[in-house]
Amino acid sequence: MFIAGGTNLVDLWKYNLLHPKLVVDINHLPEHRRITELEDGGLRLGALVSNADTAYHPLVESRYPLLSKAILAGASAQIRNMATNGGNLLQRTRCYYFYDADVPCNKRVPGSGCPAMDGYNRIHAILGASGECIAVFPSDMCVALAALEAVVNVSGKNGGRRIPFADFHRLPGDSPEIDNILQHGELITSIDLPEKGFAQNYSYLKLRDRHSYAFALVSVATALELEGDTIRDARIALGGVAHKPWRVREAEAVLVGKKADEAAFTAAAEVLLTGAVGLKYNAFKIELAKRAIVRNGMMALHPETQLPGAQPSA
Ligand code: SF4
Repeated sequence: MFIAGGTNLVDLWKYNLLHPKLVVDINHLPEHRRITELEDGGLRLGALVSNADTAYHPLVESRYPLLSKAILAGASAQIRNMATNGGNLLQRTRCYYFYDADVPCNKRVPGSGCPAMDGYNRIHAILGASGECIAVFPSDMCVALAALEAVVNVSGKNGGRRIPFADFHRLPGDSPEIDNILQHGELITSIDLPEKGFAQNYSYLKLRDRHSYAFALVSVATALELEGDTIRDARIALGGVAHKPWRVREAEAVLVGKKADEAAFTAAAEVLLTGAVGLKYNAFKIELAKRAIVRNGMMALHPETQLPGAQPSA
């Protein structure tokens, strides 16, 4: 396994949940420690740049403030200083049962069972889950990257490839032990942001049990392109609800050409939550997500609320 910031891998190792045969320290690869402008107008985020350095980079703050805001909603200042961009994509679920080596877990030990199904599933998935696993992917940064349609650059023994962000993480299906489509030995080298950054109308809303250093029960990244009060383009991605950041193109299409108001965002929320299934302790997330989408859509209309560090209370 590769180690960079180690903010998740070391935990898993210490808890006796991972047993890597070989760990390769990749921290000394200077070409992956840079943020560079691309000829097509986009921005390349090196995989080894820390989450903090990414969030506070002037070009990220000015051109992709949605990403900056999402990163700063995650973890703690200390962890953001250590954690890398590549590692953020590869962090594991925070399902309580996954972190307890004394109980079964299909993600940790395939075929052993999923105690979350009939257990305490308050933080678990309402969308895209399977009969094998109902875990959610915990990243905030990745919710914004999904909305911005980033591209993940990876390198492996067969060369490099570019993976659209929507294809990088996977749903659990019958193999929940596999979180993403990386092949063994492949390394994330960078993440490309397209030119369009939605820097005028955006918002990231994270709802959680405490105001900081907590994972999202529901989070929403909203990016809008407006002409007057009419929506010309829209992106909405949800976090905390599925095994990957959740986007539904049909929900975004509902918004295009509409006046940006609560009625439009309510209609989009209904489409986005189509098929949502609540369990004993997490059914509240369905209504919470719908309300968060509407609220965040309205917040995206007011860039003045998006000052660095501004984080509305839940
Ligand atoms: Fe394991 Fe997934 Fe079930 Fe959690 S939800 S116990 S990660 S199989």
